[in-house]
Order: sequence, then C-alpha cells, then structure tokens
Amino acid sequence: MHPWHQEFTRLILLYLSVFLVGGLTGYLVQTLLLLTLIILFIQLSQIRRFEKWISQGGKGEYPKTSGIWEEIYYQIYRIKKSEKRRKKKLRKLIEQFRQSTEALPDAAVVLDNNDEIEWANKAARQILGLQQIDKGQRLINLIRYPEFIRYLKSGSYSEPVILPSPVNNCIILEVRIIPYGSGLRLLLAQDVTQLKKMQTIRKDFVANVSHELRTPLTVLKGYLETMKDMDDGGSPLLTTSFKEMLGQTERMQHLVDDLLFLTRLETQQKKQQCIDIPALLSQICKEGDALESASRRIELTLESSAHIMGEEQDLRSAFTNLLGNALKYSPDDSLVEVRWYQTETEIILAIKDYGEGIPETEIPRITERFYRVDTKRRKKIPGTGLGLAIVKHALMRHDAQLEITSKMGEGSSFNCHFPIKRHCND
Ligand code: ADP
Repeated sequence: MHPWHQEFTRLILLYLSVFLVGGLTGYLVQTLLLLTLIILFIQLSQIRRFEKWISQGGKGEYPKTSGIWEEIYYQIYRIKKSEKRRKKKLRKLIEQFRQSTEALPDAAVVLDNNDEIEWANKAARQILGLQQIDKGQRLINLIRYPEFIRYLKSGSYSEPVILPSPVNNCIILEVRIIPYGSGLRLLLAQDVTQLKKMQTIRKDFVANVSHELRTPLTVLKGYLETMKDMDDGGSPLLTTSFKEMLGQTERMQHLVDDLLFLTRLETQQKKQQCIDIPALLSQICKEGDALESASRRIELTLESSAHIMGEEQDLRSAFTNLLGNALKYSPDDSLVEVRWYQTETEIILAIKDYGEGIPETEIPRITERFYRVDTKRRKKIPGTGLGLAIVKHALMRHDAQLEITSKMGEGSSFNCHFPIKRHCND
C-alpha cells in the first residue's frame, strides 16, 4: 500500500477507536481533543526534526522514523544522492577538460567582457608569460603590443593577428579571438615560428629563382628575335619554330614578372600616398582600349571622385589585371563596364563583362596562384594564372575585399570594396 494511504488508514483507525472509547466512557469530546493534540504534537516534533536535518544540509543518513515521514525523508535522500552523483560526474568532466586544455600546445585564455583574464592554460603561461596571479587582470596591461591592443578592441576577429611572443621575441605567434557565450572571448595563440620560417624560405626561393631567370630569358629572347629577323622564310618549319619559341619565351617572361611582383607584394613595406583613382582608371581604360583591335569596348562611369590612400603601382596592377581579364574572357565585340562609386561605408570599383562566365564551383579557387579554369577555349587564351592572386594580394594591402559574381553564359563581375577610411580627398 502507498505510504500515504497507510498513514490515512492509521489515522482513521486511531480516531475510530478513540471515538469508541470516548463514547463508552462518556468523554467523547475530551478524548478526541486529546488525540488531536497528541497528533499535532507528534507532527510538530517531526517537522522540527526535519527542519533540523535539512538545515544541516541533509547530510548523511536521515533520522529513523516511520510512515509518511519516512517516505519524505527517503525521497529527499534519493534526490540528494543522485544530485551528488551528477555533481561528481560533472566535476570529473570539468577536470578532464581542464587537463586536456592544460595539455594543449596552443595558449588558451578566457577573457570576460572587460578584457579581464578569467582562466588561462599552461601554454598561455609559457608563451604569453601569464601567471596564476594574473587572473582578473586586464590582458592589455600584460600584452602591450599596439597591434594586439587594436585587434582586441576592434571587435572584428575574422582574421588572426601575428605577434612576437612577449616572453621571447624570436617566437612568432598567430593570435585568434573567438567570441562565445554572453560577452566572453576565447583567445588562442599558436606558435607559428617554423611556418613563418618556411614561408620566408619559399618567398626568398621564388624571388631568387625568378630574379635569376630574368637575364637568361632576356638573352634568349634577344637571340630569338635576331634569328627571326634573319629568317628568309626558306624553311616554314624554322619560321614556325622561331614564332613558337618567341611566344613561349615571352610567356615565361610574364610568369617571372608576375612572380616577382607577387613576392614584392608579400614582402615589401607599404608606402602609402593619396591616389587619384578616377585619373588612374581613365588612364588604364584608355590603354585597354588602345590594345583592342576591335571597336571601343570599355565603358567607364565615374560616379565618385574619391581618391584612395594606398600604393599606385599595386592598384594599377590589380585594376589592369581585372580589366585585362574582362577583355580577354569575353567576345571581341561585347561591352566591359567599369564603374567607380561609393556608399556610406565603402568605395567600390565594379568591373563587369558579358563573357562566358565562370562555373560557380571554380569561383573560390580562381584567386589561387597558377589556378586557371580548364576549358578548351580558355586553353588558347594566354595567361599565367597569377593575375587574380596579384589582385587579391594588392587589395589585401589596402584592407579591400574582392567580390566575384558570375553566371555561365551571361558574364562576370569583379568588385573591389575599399573601406571608407581609405578615402583621402574631400
Ligand atoms: P590568367 O588570366 O592569367 O589565367 P588569372 O589569375 O587572372 O589568370 O585568372 C584565373 C582564371 O580565372 C583564368 O584562367 C580564367 O579562367 C578565370 N577568369 C578570370 N577572370 C575572368 C573573367 N572576367 N571571365 C571569365 N573567367 C575569368
């Protein structure tokens, strides 16, 4: 029987027997009152025992009792026991998490919304020089590099920042911030010294090889041109061979020039000045038109007179590459639209062609070095596959983004988005 029914039956039986005894002795009211008082007293003392047990945290075994009170004690005891088990499991999980993050080779620091340190792992202590006592300190008081402070305060964490380690400036760190929860941020710092070293070796190698190839190629081209001039057309095989060899030498020269330009973009310090973009675009479009054997195809619309803070050679190269591609990858008689305009937040160069377009799956890859979309027609179009890589790098140096949209059979748009902070004339 349920303890509650048991309790109820016991109470009824008690009252019935007292009712009988009271009726027989003639003291019905008094005995009933007495019984009620006794029951009340027993319940009050049970409540007191219960309150005492619970106020002590309900620890250990519960007091010996019977009936519904035993059931109440038992249920609470059960809840507490399962709660204890849950807590133990949770504690174990947290401990395992702590141990795994402690073992991470990358530094991990949890920051609150005041940039104060909430928690840091062992690697953070080793490569960022943080200590146990730094908990609650503002991180910018401990890592004082201006670019790090700017990055932390910017609130835009899509790209990581590269810094020397505050402990040893031979160690190069890639620091990334990941916001989570309500106002919390996880800072991850990875030692990229080896990676950076390898990148420098690769850059130096490409730059040296490209540089060394320049002279032999010039000599080769010079001789080939002389031999071509001397060719009297007596042997058609020789004539086509000279033409082909010259073409391939020129292609290699372009490749070497593009590689050297890319290396320069990656390594050289920025030398910024205010550039008159409308004038630059007018010049590039005029040059583009002059190269076209067919009728004028370029339509330039200058809706903004904005000048941009940057490097003229880089921007000239980026815009020339984009315009060159638009002309190259569209039919001889189709229009290429060049538009310079601005919104509240950006200044935009949009280059639109009505060519064959780019397959959607290829768009993310065409800015990779040497990547060329593989179609029969395009194989015949000369190119190095480095043009868009140059565009991407040149734009990156100007905090600008390249947006590419294209539809097969309808054409492509290449839009360069410059942030308004680059605007330098009024
Ligand atoms: P390249 O033109 O020398 O091959 P790029 O890096 O300039 O190298 O371009 C990479 C590839 O992207 C090209 O091979 C071409 O397939 C594609 N592409 C670039 N611009 C356009 C465009 N306007 N229309 C169609 N395809 C294009």
